[in-house]
Amino acid sequence: MGSHRDLIMRRTRIVATIGPASNDDKTILSLLKGGVNVCRLNYSHGEPEHKTELYQRIRAMESKIGRPTCILADLPGPKLRLGNFPGVHVLGMRKKVELHCGIDHMDDASNKQLPVQYAGLSAELEKGDPVLLADGLIRLKVLDAPGKPGGIVTCRIQDGGPVSARKGINVPGTLVDLPAIGSKDEVALKHALDSGADLIAVSYVRTAKDLLPAKQAIQRRGLSTWIIAKIEHPMALDHLDEILANCDAVMVARGDLGVEIPLEEVPIAQQHIIDSALERGMPVIVATQMLETMTVNPRPTRAEVSDISTAIRQGATGVMLSGETASGKHPLKSVQTMAKIALSTELGLESSNLTPEAVTKYKSTRAVAHAGVELAKMSSAARILVATERGNAPRLVSSYRPGIPVTAVTNSLATARRVQVLPGVDSIVVEEYDRGSQTMQNALTLQVQSGEVKPGQKIVAISGSPKAISGLTSTARLYKISKTGDIVGTE
Ligand code: PGA
Ligand code: MN
Repeated sequence: MGSHRDLIMRRTRIVATIGPASNDDKTILSLLKGGVNVCRLNYSHGEPEHKTELYQRIRAMESKIGRPTCILADLPGPKLRLGNFPGVHVLGMRKKVELHCGIDHMDDASNKQLPVQYAGLSAELEKGDPVLLADGLIRLKVLDAPGKPGGIVTCRIQDGGPVSARKGINVPGTLVDLPAIGSKDEVALKHALDSGADLIAVSYVRTAKDLLPAKQAIQRRGLSTWIIAKIEHPMALDHLDEILANCDAVMVARGDLGVEIPLEEVPIAQQHIIDSALERGMPVIVATQMLETMTVNPRPTRAEVSDISTAIRQGATGVMLSGETASGKHPLKSVQTMAKIALSTELGLESSNLTPEAVTKYKSTRAVAHAGVELAKMSSAARILVATERGNAPRLVSSYRPGIPVTAVTNSLATARRVQVLPGVDSIVVEEYDRGSQTMQNALTLQVQSGEVKPGQKIVAISGSPKAISGLTSTARLYKISKTGDIVGTE
């Protein structure tokens, strides 16, 4: 498994987090060959500038794998975290612990006192509030809070356990009054855009307003980087429509979502987020704990296999690995396992039939995309070629779930990279000619030469006019490749 053929056949995209267990050349190459479509760099960990080399390392693989790479920069967001302190402290059941708010660093932290960076937390918490640490494993209850920023909150430990520096803090239900893009995010965002990230994930989105800073930074630079909204805060579920109207893709971030809302409500929230994304023709990635036990074990549990398969049958266009590939013992095996589950799920069962009915932007592109997909189905075309400047046309084509491989044809390397996140889409970079048909026929010739398209096959080419790539998407044309490999078709 994990062969080139499977990679092309599989529609579901695999996002893998690159971290200490996977950031060397050899592992990156093996993960990409094993089926990773998108490399995720998590800016919650390490200094941004330490990632510069990683971007170069991933891009350098393009010549080895023969396809563009795609890098997702995941911003830390307004996640509450403990401050820095040395060592590991074990919080004991029923004991008391003080949270010192507004303190970045504490040398004498212990199981009795811990630093919290966000000063405002002591103002927001009230007696009786639950406070969760380390993804909800440790549970505290507020005994006493000062009602003002920069104070000390005294808590009773209800579920104890070990804590170390910078562990996440969740206060379910509390409206944490933090900017979506704080100073740390700004540095990360700048670094990501300077380094050429293809996708930017905004964490802890609460309303559409939280997407604005990233959107503006991208526009200011004249880029068209796609924004992924991570749904992990309860407020985002109430504002899902406006959030989806203002981003390009969405992530079901189950790690924090499962602490912020009752765990048992996560599966239905997941389905709801997926449905809403598919209606808009948007990619949707299900994330966190998909193969959690493979962090240590070489094989997954039956339940994990089922979870990945369920997400895909619900309609997820992508599935994500976090600790499994970033810091686990079996990064490659995790990717191969995920790829196998995705492929057999796709082969075995119809997935969601939702069509992008709610697309309001790009109406004419959508209409031509739909016509092209119908033409391809009716004529049993082997592939759909779709010209694109920024990736929207292939996004809409793939959102109709054609069941036929799609190749994005573009003259922009950035676009060729970015569309790797789209389900069932690959890409080639070509020159744009004055005549649209010339650009598409040239792309087709390249695909025949590389063996991607074979003699006897029919191909649908969707393009703009007058120029194929920069023109407005307007044309769907059927071509046939003759036995001798020539393109036969209308002018
Ligand atoms: P994180 O996001 O790993 O950046 O926290 C994913 C999640 O919360 O599930
Ligand atoms: Mn999260």
